[in-house]
Amino acid sequence: MSLNKKYDYIVVGQGLAGTLIVHELLECNKSILIVDISLKASASRVAAGLINPISVRRCIPAFPDFYLKTAIKRYKELEEKLSSNFMHLKPILKLFRNEDVKHLWNDKYLNEGMDIYIKSFNQKNTFNQLNDAFTSANVEPAGNLDVAKFLNDSKKYFSDKCDFLDEKFDFECFDKTKINYKGFDAQKIIFCEGYRVSENPFFSYLPISPTKGEVITIKIPSIKYFDRIISKGVYVLPLGNHLYTVGATYNREDLTDKITSDGQQFLKDRLEGILNVEYEIIDRVAGVRPTVKDYKSLIGWHSENNNIGIFNGLGARGVLAGPYLSNAFVNSSFENISRFSK
Ligand SMILES: Cc1cc2nc3c(=O)[nH]c(=O)nc-3n(C[C@H](O)[C@H](O)[C@H](O)COP(=O)(O)OP(=O)(O)OC[C@H]3O[C@@H](n4cnc5c(N)ncnc54)[C@H](O)[C@@H]3O)c2cc1C
Repeated sequence: MSLNKKYDYIVVGQGLAGTLIVHELLECNKSILIVDISLKASASRVAAGLINPISVRRCIPAFPDFYLKTAIKRYKELEEKLSSNFMHLKPILKLFRNEDVKHLWNDKYLNEGMDIYIKSFNQKNTFNQLNDAFTSANVEPAGNLDVAKFLNDSKKYFSDKCDFLDEKFDFECFDKTKINYKGFDAQKIIFCEGYRVSENPFFSYLPISPTKGEVITIKIPSIKYFDRIISKGVYVLPLGNHLYTVGATYNREDLTDKITSDGQQFLKDRLEGILNVEYEIIDRVAGVRPTVKDYKSLIGWHSENNNIGIFNGLGARGVLAGPYLSNAFVNSSFENISRFSK
C-alpha cells in the first residue's frame, strides 16, 4: 500500500456495524481504508444473529416494521452480491412458560395487531422432544444471519475494493484536523469499534453500557434438525447435523471474554425447561454487546468535528437494526450525535 494515498473514508472496526457501513459506502463509489484488529471475541463473531421481530417478554414489536423488511431485503441483496448464503429464514417457536404468558400472547394476537408476526398457535404436546405443556406460537418472518460467514465473505469481497490495516487503531497517530492516520489522508473517518468505543477519546463520553453474553453449542443426538428457532428464556438455534446454538446470558459486571460457571448454569437451567431429551455441550464462547443506557444506537457526527463519525450501539438486536440504520446514516439522515452532551 502506498503512503499518503487519499481515501474518502477510513472505517475503524469491521464487525457487523463496520461491514454494513463499508457495503453502503462502496455502493456510493467511495474509496475506503479499513482498520480492524480482528478481535476473536467480538460481539459479531459470537452472536447467533437472530432476526426476531418481537420483543418476546412483552410481546410487542422490537422495532418499527420497516426495520424487519429492510433487513431481509438487504441481506438478500448482499447474498446475491457476494454469491453466498448467510441469511436463513425460519420461524421462531415461542414456547409459553405458563398460562399468563399464553394469555398475553393470545391477547396481543387478537387485539393489538401482533397477528402480523404471530402466524399461528400450536396445541400442547405438539413437539415430543420439547416441554410445550403451556402451548406455543409460531413467529414469522424470522430467522438468523450467520454473522461470522457474512463478515468473512464481505472481507473477501472488500479485498480488491478497499485497503486494510490489520491493527489496533492508534489514536496517537491520528491527526483530527486533517483526518490523517499514519500518513493516510481521508475526507472522513467512521468509528465502529463495538463496546471498545469506551477507549475512543472522541466518543468515550457516550453512555455505552456493554453487556456480556455467553453462548454454547450443543449436540442433541435424538434430533438431527428442528425446523424452527426455539425461544423460551433462551433461544435454541438449529445449525444442522444434530448441532444447536443456545444463548444467551446478560452480564453487565464482567466484560471479559471468559466463560463463567454462573453463565453456564443459567443456560443449563433454561435448557431444562425446554428439552425433554439428552444433549451434550460441544463448545462455549462469550462476547460483549455494544448496548447503550437508553437502548438507542449511537450514530452521527462529532459535535465539534463533522468529519469524525460513529456507527455503534447496535445493542442486542444489531442484525435486525443494522441494515436500516447503516443506510440512513450513509444517506445522512443522522447529523450530530447530540442527544448526549459532553
Ligand atoms: C452472545 C451474544 C449474542 C448475540 N445475539 C444476537 C442475536 O441473536 N441477534 C442480534 O441481532 N444481535 C445479537 N447480538 C448483538 C450483535 O452481535 C451486535 O449488535 C453486533 O454484532 C455489534 O457489532 P459491532 O460491529 O458494533 O461490534 P463488534 O462485533 O464488537 O465489532 C467491533 C469490531 O471493531 C474492531 N475493533 C475494536 N476496537 C478496535 C480498535 N481500536 N482498532 C481496530 N479495530 C477495533 C474489532 O476487532 C471488531 O471487529 C449478540 C451479541 C452477543 C455478545
